Amino acid sequence: MDAGRTRELLGRHSVGLKHALGQNFLVDEGVARRIAEASGADRASGVVEIGAGAGALTAQLAAVAGRVVTIEIDRRLEPVLRESLSGAENVEFIFQDAMKVDFAAVVRERIAPLRAVACANLPYQVTTPAVRRLVSSRLFGSVCVMVQLEAARRFAAAPGDAEYNETSAFCAYYSKPELLFEVPANCFEPRPHVTSAVIRFDAKPAPAGGEAEDAEVLRLMRAAFSERRKKFAACLARATGSARERWEELLVGLGFPCDVRGERLGADDFARLARLARESGLI
Ligand code: SAM
Repeated sequence: MDAGRTRELLGRHSVGLKHALGQNFLVDEGVARRIAEASGADRASGVVEIGAGAGALTAQLAAVAGRVVTIEIDRRLEPVLRESLSGAENVEFIFQDAMKVDFAAVVRERIAPLRAVACANLPYQVTTPAVRRLVSSRLFGSVCVMVQLEAARRFAAAPGDAEYNETSAFCAYYSKPELLFEVPANCFEPRPHVTSAVIRFDAKPAPAGGEAEDAEVLRLMRAAFSERRKKFAACLARATGSARERWEELLVGLGFPCDVRGERLGADDFARLARLARESGLI
């Protein structure tokens, strides 16, 4: 759907776009097709999409996937979507705030037995919480999203990168993030002031210890990034109430200097540290 057709459709249904909802719609069909292909969806998969907008990406997802369930917060877009997606019989709409939707129920009731993937041109105001929720849900084989380029760089950052933060480590714990391609501002209506990028998070298998093990690793990550310029062993000692020296021993055992900062550890290091700490009775 190009810019002219998008404007015409919205105008005919008297829908003015809301910046507060991140309503910058994709108006380059080639880019929408590329995102749908990058999502890895095929006829054996069901896609959960956040934010249908006028249906530009939804239409391309419907062309490759077995089923698409798209969650859109703005009910004013319903007549627009019913028209733009009138030929797509494998699309189902949910008009709700995606941040309040139970994704597990959506996958169980509307996607299964198809393989679940998530794909979205995310509204900027929910980018980080939406990505964190999608990747940590362990419901989706992959999560492919378009976000602002700076956000994509943060999601994909590794220890030593200036952009590396707790969300980078969190995403790398649950998935393998890969920054795929950039999308210029002229592919949107209205044009944003920033460049966008498409990033895909391929799910990693859940640990043997399940959610309890996840919780231990995330606790260590939070300790690392809550005081990222401080020595990690001291942060861990404060967070767990155990001796700093014992944490230093574990960090040295993992090949780090005893005064390492938490921000030097990658997701796999946090997982290994949690395992050692559990075996040593520190957590
Ligand atoms: N997928 C369309 C496209 O690519 O053109 C629209 C993308 S636009 C960047 C983001 C869409 O998400 C908007 O339609 C907006 O109304 C919707 N949205 C914003 N916040 C949302 C939320 N919390 N839950 C569901 N949809 C939301």
